[in-house]
Amino acid sequence: MAFYVYILRCADGSYYTGHTDDLERRIAQHEAGEIPGCYTHAKRPLKLVFSQDFSSRDAALESERQIKRWSRAKKQALADHDWGRLRGLARNRQPLTEVRGSTGSPRTDLLKGSPRMELKHGEPQMAPVRGEPVEPQADAEDVDEHWMRHALALADRAERDDDEIPVGAVIVDAQGAIVGEGWNRNISEHDPSAHAEIVAMRVAGANRRNHRLLGCTLYVTLEPCAMCAMAMVHARIARVVYAAADPKTGAAGSVFDLLADPRHNHRVEVSGGVLAGEAGARLKAYFRRKRGKRKPGA
Ligand SMILES: [Zn+2]
Repeated sequence: MAFYVYILRCADGSYYTGHTDDLERRIAQHEAGEIPGCYTHAKRPLKLVFSQDFSSRDAALESERQIKRWSRAKKQALADHDWGRLRGLARNRQPLTEVRGSTGSPRTDLLKGSPRMELKHGEPQMAPVRGEPVEPQADAEDVDEHWMRHALALADRAERDDDEIPVGAVIVDAQGAIVGEGWNRNISEHDPSAHAEIVAMRVAGANRRNHRLLGCTLYVTLEPCAMCAMAMVHARIARVVYAAADPKTGAAGSVFDLLADPRHNHRVEVSGGVLAGEAGARLKAYFRRKRGKRKPGA
């Protein structure tokens, strides 16, 4: 099931950001003014200027929250697919007070029974953009956080669906499209190598019909172990971004430093600590829960 984040441009030039699991139906509801109390009710006609699909509601919600914090100018740049302008705006972050009031968040002071504006026929209403929400260089911090939130949502699935250690990984190509994703499946697959990164690399290799994942960035919620780090070197992954460091088995600098070892003929660029707090909290809660089960009443 897919979940969408979308941006509508309203008749007065303002933007409305929302999320849904049924994009076409939700857009039709906005256009018909069928969503009670919604900001868009009095702001029609509307135009869908951006949409992106996610594999989980959590990931879509995080992306929606992130975009809602953006200034109107930044949303406009995203709607126009103007990555250069987006990059410039990202460097000059606007204070929150300027962002507020221009985010198109729902209002309650809507006019009841306002004349309904007809949608212009012939004008394209749907402009879905799949798998490329922001150009990778648009704003490195925003992009890394965006994909790490996706990986965190996959980590949640590891715990929720399989009762595995919550680690998630997603691989994104140079164009910003997802080529593989996965989460820890050691216990359920009876497979000591089924770490989230390996699962994601297997999917990516199959998708690209290539054992080399040139130009790809791998996002993972926990610092890779030695096995995964070496698999990344073999796969020629360009960059690894991880969240929480692993002081016991981490191979991206904590215990070993395999990704940057000059003796390999391929080196992987590494960024650590992106949303580390959120990833660490999930791991701590998981292990606390496990310990609690083993020692009832302790
Ligand atoms: Zn590993």
